[in-house]
Amino acid sequence: MSSAAGSQGQFSALDVGTLGKRLENIAAIAERVGPDSSRWTVREVGDGNLNLVFIVEGPKGSVVAKQALPYVRLVGESWPLPLKRSFFEYHALVRQERRAGVGTVPAIHHFDEAQALIVMEYLSPHVILRRRLIEGVKLPKIGRDLGLFCARTLFRGSDLCMPTRERKQDVALFADNVELCDITENLVFTDPYFEAELNRHTSPQLDGIVAELRADRDLKVEAQRLKHLFAAKAETLLHGDLHTGSVMVTETDTRVIDPEFAFYGPIAFDVGMLLANFWMSFFSQPGHETKAGEREDMRAWLLGVAEEIWATFRAEFAHLWRTERNGILYARSVFEDRGDSLGAEQALNAVISNIWTDLLGFAGVECHRRILGLAHNADFESIADPDRRAACERPALRFGRQLAVARGSLHSIDEVNELARIIARVHTA
Ligand code: ADP
Ligand code: MG
Repeated sequence: MSSAAGSQGQFSALDVGTLGKRLENIAAIAERVGPDSSRWTVREVGDGNLNLVFIVEGPKGSVVAKQALPYVRLVGESWPLPLKRSFFEYHALVRQERRAGVGTVPAIHHFDEAQALIVMEYLSPHVILRRRLIEGVKLPKIGRDLGLFCARTLFRGSDLCMPTRERKQDVALFADNVELCDITENLVFTDPYFEAELNRHTSPQLDGIVAELRADRDLKVEAQRLKHLFAAKAETLLHGDLHTGSVMVTETDTRVIDPEFAFYGPIAFDVGMLLANFWMSFFSQPGHETKAGEREDMRAWLLGVAEEIWATFRAEFAHLWRTERNGILYARSVFEDRGDSLGAEQALNAVISNIWTDLLGFAGVECHRRILGLAHNADFESIADPDRRAACERPALRFGRQLAVARGSLHSIDEVNELARIIARVHTA
C-alpha cells in the first residue's frame, strides 16, 4: 500500500473529468483499475453528507476514491470543515482492520494526506444497511457481525488491552479531531434540547411533544451528563458515527465504513448509537407498510438484532477480557496471578454493567437528535405523509426519553425491547 508519499501537492478537489488523469500515475490504483485512465469510467456516488465519493471502474477492476472538501458538502463553503478529517478516517480504518479483522472495513489502497484522499476497495454489490432496513429486508449475519466489530475494536483500543504508551500517543493523535467532535457535541447532545437554529422536526404534529421534551429538566440534565461522559471519558478509539448508514451489506458480508468522526471516547457511545438506529428502524417500520401489520415480522426481527448485537458484544468482550487483558487496567497481578479469577469476573461484570447503563443513555439522545436535530435519518424522512411520519417519530421520542432518564433502572435488553413494544402500542395514536 502506498501512502502520503504520492501526494500531488496543494489540495484541489477532484471531479469526474479530472480524476483519471490525476490518479492514473498512482501505482496502487493503476494496478487495480488498469493503466490507461481514458479507459476508466468515473461516477460520483453523491449520497454522502460531508465528502466526495467516486466509483472508478476500469478494465482490470474498480476502486472507490473518497475525498474530503474544506467544507461540508451538503451545506457548502459557508460551513467550513477541515480536510484533516480524512487523516482521521484513514488512521481509524487502519486500526479497525487490525482490531476487528480483514474484511470488516473496506481495504485501503492509497492515502494522500495533502489531497485528503482515501482510495479504497469498492464494495459491490453491497448496499447501505439503512436502505435495506427501510425496504424491510432481513440480513441474517448483521447482529453477530456488528456485535463482534464493536467488542473487538472497542476492547482492543482501550487500556484494557493496548500498551499504554501506544494508547496515549494515539489519544494525542485523535485529540486533534476537534471539529468533528464539535459536531457531535452540539448536534447530538445540545441542539435537540433547545430551539437551535439548525433544528427541524415534523411540524405541527410534533410541536407538543417537542415543547414537553425541551421543558423536561430531568432529560436536559441527563443529556448534559451524557455529553460530559462523551467529552471526558477517553476510554477507547471510537468509530464515532456508527449508525446503519455507516454499514454496507450483502446477505453474507458486513462492512463498516466512514469513521471520520473517530476519536477516544466511551466504549458505550458506539454501541449505544448503533442500537438506537435499530430501535428507530423498529419504530419507523409501520410508516413503510402498504397494509397494516405487514412489517410485524420485520419489527420483531429488528428487536432480535438489538438483542443479538448486545449478546454478541458481551460474550466477545468477556472472551477478550479473559484472554487479552494485557493493558494497565484490572491487572492480572491482583486477580488471576493471586488465584482470584472470581475477582476478575466480578470486575468484568462491573465494567459491562457500566457500559450497559451508559449505552442506553447514548441511545436515548441519538433517538432525539435524529428526529429533532439537523441530521435526520432516512428511516423516518422517507415516510412522505407527515401524519404517518409523526406517528412513528412520537413513540421513538418517548422511548428515547425513557432510555436517557431511566437508564439506571433498565437491567436487560429484554426489558428495553419490551419498553419499545409497549411505547409503540401506547403512543402511536
Ligand atoms: P460521507 O462521509 O460523506 O457521509 P460515506 O463514507 O458515508 O461519505 O460515503 C457516501 C456513500 O458512498 C455511502 O453511503 C456509500 O453509498 C458510498 N460508499 C462509500 N464508501 C464506499 C465503498 N468503499 N464502496 C462502495 N460504496 C461506498
Ligand atoms: Mg461521513
